[in-house]
Amino acid sequence: ATADTGGPTIFDKIIAKEIPSSIVYEDEKVLAFRDINPQAPVHVLVIPKVRDGLTGIDKAEPRHFEILGQLLYAAKLVAEKEGLAKGFRIVINNGPEGCQSVYHLHLHVLGGRQMAWPAG
Ligand code: 5GP
Repeated sequence: ATADTGGPTIFDKIIAKEIPSSIVYEDEKVLAFRDINPQAPVHVLVIPKVRDGLTGIDKAEPRHFEILGQLLYAAKLVAEKEGLAKGFRIVINNGPEGCQSVYHLHLHVLGGRQMAWPAG
């Protein structure tokens, strides 16, 4: 398990395009790219381009209301773009017990197969 150090993450390099990623959707505030270790046929990460303290969803404050809405809406656009009309899942892992490994808020958009509940 990894912990929140508040330091830079690999996603800073992806946002800066210093590390290549397969971008699915991008606007002024949000970047969505394919997960390097996909857990489903479609597995896209949706992140804010500016972290602004959002190492995880547990750090959300009222000033983040707008970006939180934009992230969720971008996840919907990704699902549409990826043809997930039959269904999909949006996940936020938080903290060590939540299996979070990168401390820059991200939504996982998973689809293209039957999901199981509550895990897998
Ligand atoms: P978490 O475990 O924090 O919820 O999710 C982090 C995700 O980032 C993991 O699913 C992991 O595969 C993905 N990831 C980590 N490093 C990279 C990378 O360099 N590029 C991409 N595209 N995904 C990454």
